[in-house]
Amino acid sequence: MPKVQDTVLEQAKIEARFWTKVNKTDGSWEWIAAKAAGYGVIWVDGRLVAAHRFVYELLVGPILAGLTLDHLCRNRACVNPAHLEPVTSRENTLRGQGIAANEARRTHCPQGHPYDLFNTHISTSGERYCRQCRRIRERVRRATARTIQSATKTQLPYGAASSPAAVPATRELSPPRRAGLSELLPSSD
Ligand SMILES: [Zn+2]
Ligand SMILES: [Zn+2]
Repeated sequence: MPKVQDTVLEQAKIEARFWTKVNKTDGSWEWIAAKAAGYGVIWVDGRLVAAHRFVYELLVGPILAGLTLDHLCRNRACVNPAHLEPVTSRENTLRGQGIAANEARRTHCPQGHPYDLFNTHISTSGERYCRQCRRIRERVRRATARTIQSATKTQLPYGAASSPAAVPATRELSPPRRAGLSELLPSSD
């Protein structure tokens, strides 16, 4: 049986070795040594251990059985314990699948139009678009453009002239305002 002193010394050596493999920045603590599937790995007592699990147990505490550590920063090579959250593996899988997987499971667009053969447009990047929604958006865009165009032509010059709040009563500002109006309004003579 190893003496307590030896165990402590051994532990200190492992920790020292661990920190030589980490590049700490303000945000992530990047693992710069061996990796497996993107996760940092380190040999401890003849076993290959995940670096992020090692650092979590070292600085935070033991990871309860059945829990995995989720990288909140989505960088598997990061060993900053502040970016790690223990979750059940099911929860972790769901999080990892993310938006793309949820989107793929959906049979209707957010407005309730079916993602069927006729109504689905698939972009070159593989994203699905609802054709019906796209037509509606296009119609709204054109109508908005028309409204803005006509508002700029007719309402704005008169609105600016008739609204007292829009006309500051300072001497400096009145000459350019008068010049602007004479250009915009048709001459009455
Ligand atoms: Zn991180
Ligand atoms: Zn739609």
